[in-house]
Amino acid sequence: MTVIESVAPEQAEAAKLPPGVVVEGPLVDAKFLDSYIGFGFLVGGSIAALIWVFTQGIGWVEISVFAGMFALTTVGIGFMHRYFVHRSFRCGPVMRTILAAIATMTVQGSILKWVSNHRRHHLHSDKPGDVHSPYYDGSGNSHVSFRKGMMHAHGGWVWDRETTDGAYYARDILADPIAMFFTRTRWYWVALSAVIIPGAIGYVFGGVHTMIGCVLFSGLFRSYLMTMATSLVNSVCHSDGRWGYRRFETHDGTTNELVTSLLTFGEGLHNNHHRFPRDAYLSHAWYEIDINGLIILGLGKLGLVHDIVGVGKRQLAADGEQGGAAESQNAFDGAAEDLHSAGR
Ligand SMILES: [Zn+2]
Ligand SMILES: [Zn+2]
Repeated sequence: MTVIESVAPEQAEAAKLPPGVVVEGPLVDAKFLDSYIGFGFLVGGSIAALIWVFTQGIGWVEISVFAGMFALTTVGIGFMHRYFVHRSFRCGPVMRTILAAIATMTVQGSILKWVSNHRRHHLHSDKPGDVHSPYYDGSGNSHVSFRKGMMHAHGGWVWDRETTDGAYYARDILADPIAMFFTRTRWYWVALSAVIIPGAIGYVFGGVHTMIGCVLFSGLFRSYLMTMATSLVNSVCHSDGRWGYRRFETHDGTTNELVTSLLTFGEGLHNNHHRFPRDAYLSHAWYEIDINGLIILGLGKLGLVHDIVGVGKRQLAADGEQGGAAESQNAFDGAAEDLHSAGR
């Protein structure tokens, strides 16, 4: 059965959105302001970057800073996703501050917004109420075509006239002074990631000309491309097997897609992730390369993070034992746990 067939009976309920979705009002206006600023910043900067590349040219400094910052922020989205959303591991306040800084430097909105949207996505995955599904728009209506659905999932959703209520989905974030500090100061971290760090490195290694190239190419253009790579998880990895493969028969259109997995350091193993949402390490086979998961396991070995969820527990489930594996079966349990506590 395809996802479209499996969710069709709910179509009549489309107008009735679930709780935690805000339609119109100041929160939606604030979301649009964020979207306009972010979109203008990244698209304007990317156009300028391409003009600069073809008229002025770039060198190894710009390319190296591009690669380094792309890698850093791709790890950052792994922390945003697996730590702040799903609590796949735990850590102390110093480590949480570092994770929050890198996560906010991904230029994908505040921790509060990202966490709220993603928990809502899991709770209503590819059903009415999902924030970015190829099958339903933000109002819960079915998309008129698969192509339009894909465009909505890939980025069009940020222009829906509704938003996610952080007070409903992310009370733990609202109660966390570190996460909220980075939520309030998010634009400074965006500036650091997209302008100040690339510009400073460019100036040190090549003067003003290289500095401009680094800001445009390694800062703004890189932020745009990295956001597009992450968005493949919402579109390609929810294509119901049109791209990639489904290891598990989940109640959504999720797939594992290996090119997306390489570009996103493992986030493209999305069918595995929806099946075991709290797992810190998403790979189930040698060819499923999960760099973000390996980094978390490495941090665990160094003693910088602890209580890593999922490791060793799948085998318990395979052996028919109860206990550890059961906690990662429910698609929303990681978030639900945090909805009822301000715990870490
Ligand atoms: Zn998903
Ligand atoms: Zn997730």
